[in-house]
Amino acid sequence: MQNQLKDKALVLHSIRWKESSKILTLFIRSKGVDKVIARSAYKPNHPFGGRLEALNLLEVVISQKQSRSLQILQEAEVLDGFPVLRKDLTRQPYALAILELIKQTLGEQHSDQIFFDFTVHIIKNLATADHPEILFIYYLLKLSSFLGFKPALHNCWECGKTDLQGTSYFSVEKGAIFCSGCGEGLELLSALHKDQLYFLQRLQTFPHKKIVDFPIPLPAGINYIALLTRFLGFHLEQPIHINALSLL
Ligand SMILES: [Zn+2]
Repeated sequence: MQNQLKDKALVLHSIRWKESSKILTLFIRSKGVDKVIARSAYKPNHPFGGRLEALNLLEVVISQKQSRSLQILQEAEVLDGFPVLRKDLTRQPYALAILELIKQTLGEQHSDQIFFDFTVHIIKNLATADHPEILFIYYLLKLSSFLGFKPALHNCWECGKTDLQGTSYFSVEKGAIFCSGCGEGLELLSALHKDQLYFLQRLQTFPHKKIVDFPIPLPAGINYIALLTRFLGFHLEQPIHINALSLL
């Protein structure tokens, strides 16, 4: 059985394949992450020319056959190439980092149209947000929740206390907070001051439509991205490497 799928897709990655073709890793709105082949993409004057770059949001037509391991890209129109974001070297790395995260954490089983639309919304807003880094930390928190590892940040995992004063501890292993009394002697803990914890608590529950107006500045002192990436990697049982942010 052969069928055609017409849908939106983000290009996560592309590599040259043989003489003139490309293999693309796509995040497809109704299908999750999947690879397709774009035949003849490198031939001069082919309609694919220039459209299949990483980060482009496309409308694609894919010819699908169950017996094939690699489906075939038939048509691709660019819906958004994010030109402003692409040119801004203080913002573009965060968009590329989102692509790297998706590629390493999602698969075909993760087809979720709401999460796809959320991802596109965050990438769009990276172009104008005052603090693109905060949007990326927000994305890490939401991706963790989407994958089933929502960090429990609002009360001590051990004693249940919600009024967390002074220093608390985030346990990568438990995905939860321990108060200053209960955190002693546990492994894999990262200390969080009250303002750092409050920042993460507010960010985790903030509505995504208003995220560019998030009111709290990033409290200095810890690397939130490294902490949340380590947390995700621990629970997925594979280390996550984000190379794009080294461009900053
Ligand atoms: Zn406690």
